[in-house]
Amino acid sequence: MKKRIISLLLAFALLCSVCAIGASAATQVKTACGGNCEHVPSIVIPGIGQSRVMLLNDDGTYKLDKDGHDINCFPGYFDVSAIVKRVLVPALLSIVTQQDIGFSKAVADAVENAFYMNKSDNNGKCTGPVKLENYPYSLAECTQEEKDYIYGCIPLQSYAQIAGEDHLYYFAYNSFGNNADIVEELYQFIQQVKAETGHDKVNIVPISMGGTLANGLLEYHPEVINDLHRVVYVVPALDGSSIVGDVYNKRLTFLDPDYLYHGFLEGLMDPGTAAMIETLVRILPDRLLLKALDVTVDRLLTEVFANCTMLWALCPSADYESAAAALLSAPEKAVIKAQTDRYYQAQLHSHANIRKMLDAGIEVFDVVDYDFPLYNVGASWNRENADGVIDLNSTAMGVYSANCGETLPEGYAQQNTHCANPDHNHISPDNVVDASTGLLPDTTFYFDGQGHESTGRNDVIMKLATALLADDRITDVYSDPNFPQFNAARDSKGLINGTLPAAKAVDQSKLSAEDAAELQAAIDEAEAVIASTVVEPGKMEAAAARLDAILVKIGVREARSEKKESTFFIGISDALYKGFGTAGFSQMPFVGVQRLFAAVLALIRR
Ligand SMILES: [Zn+2]
Ligand SMILES: [Zn+2]
Repeated sequence: MKKRIISLLLAFALLCSVCAIGASAATQVKTACGGNCEHVPSIVIPGIGQSRVMLLNDDGTYKLDKDGHDINCFPGYFDVSAIVKRVLVPALLSIVTQQDIGFSKAVADAVENAFYMNKSDNNGKCTGPVKLENYPYSLAECTQEEKDYIYGCIPLQSYAQIAGEDHLYYFAYNSFGNNADIVEELYQFIQQVKAETGHDKVNIVPISMGGTLANGLLEYHPEVINDLHRVVYVVPALDGSSIVGDVYNKRLTFLDPDYLYHGFLEGLMDPGTAAMIETLVRILPDRLLLKALDVTVDRLLTEVFANCTMLWALCPSADYESAAAALLSAPEKAVIKAQTDRYYQAQLHSHANIRKMLDAGIEVFDVVDYDFPLYNVGASWNRENADGVIDLNSTAMGVYSANCGETLPEGYAQQNTHCANPDHNHISPDNVVDASTGLLPDTTFYFDGQGHESTGRNDVIMKLATALLADDRITDVYSDPNFPQFNAARDSKGLINGTLPAAKAVDQSKLSAEDAAELQAAIDEAEAVIASTVVEPGKMEAAAARLDAILVKIGVREARSEKKESTFFIGISDALYKGFGTAGFSQMPFVGVQRLFAAVLALIRR
């Protein structure tokens, strides 16, 4: 009897413990599907600056700006009144004396101070008073504010609608953080997503700088291959960006005085504003301005960029060794150098590691932009095709292409470096790209004329990403004629989120028959254009303009005021450069200045 009671008790205890295990496993899995559905959970690894990193006070509370807003400190915090306070007196003294009375030091101090919260120590760890806002849960558990932020960065709502918000995750990170630490967090995050979705595989979506984290992940955690279903790269910086390589090697266009006074600013702003600045800076001698820029660049390089391993990951492999020799050869930089050397290996092995994924049956896709010149900051800006921020051969895995605005050489034959099918035509219709030379010729999608930063504003790219992530229907660039290998740019966010909803909300019964008919026709045209994912350049813009016009006519919208750019300074800046090169006003001969004043007076009277 006693034995029976004991064995009964034992059986009961065993049953309880089994139930307990079952219960704890059940609370771990958070998805409605419990891990049994056709949609694989997806983790977005966003790009540089696409995470909120907030500035803190000494007591750990959020620091607020003068309007009471919290401060996202990417890429820095430019407190204008503090900068003016620091620079004003030395600037005035230097203008009056035409000598460097503390001016270059004040500028360097002010710029360094704008980045102080993003500095790292000699171990490569960010030391600033900042707090990363992250989302250690799916979009389903995010607050509305968090969702708005995430979808504002990467509009993948359509994927969430199909797979469920409990299948979508956003891996936030500090763009000025420690590369190896963030890769480790990413690996752990993937394990967490598997556990709480109940799925045994996940998709990852490395975007831009996120591509460098994917490089690190595959190199430092090769076993992650067992956790992955699909990888959808979007404009990934797999071999960095030559802008960053030029910065680290101090090959900067604006340190060339001729370009600084004539051309540099035109690449970054409207010509009228550029010419105005070019003219006004002549209040200082050119050597003084150049010295201030030079000292400031050196300060940023040594005090901020040299210690930041996330930024080092954006340095192209070809630029790494020279930059590391210049900035990381001192003994106190040994720890950082070891970390950047390690990432350099990950970068060199990037293609080989992607190939290992393919061998393991993982499907890998790449979505890239081209024919958009790099910003004219680094000396290499006009040497290769790019998307404004990253070189095409970095995003498109070694692809060969003509430069922006050029075409492949006369008589060029497709190389088929990585494509084994002789029937495939991988030359872009504009004769710029030979996709057969990229690592993934059959699964790389190209968008002509799209700029890097507006990638998320092209609804076709988001629809393509959704299609690639939600199920396995599309396996390559030939799967669906709606998503061809070569497509084109469009910036449709304003039309889809703004103009179209406004137009559809109009009560047409209150309009004249003629206006109502035009409004409906314009809506129909816009919807038809958006419904097509094969972009015909100019078509969406025309539909948007038609819709705008009728909305203005019926008084729903105000006519867009034509922004009149001032051209006043353009002639002056040109004349100054032709007559006096880069000389400041005080360096110009008296007769020349007289002539200049006469010219300005003539311009004003005109
Ligand atoms: Zn599921
Ligand atoms: Zn092919």
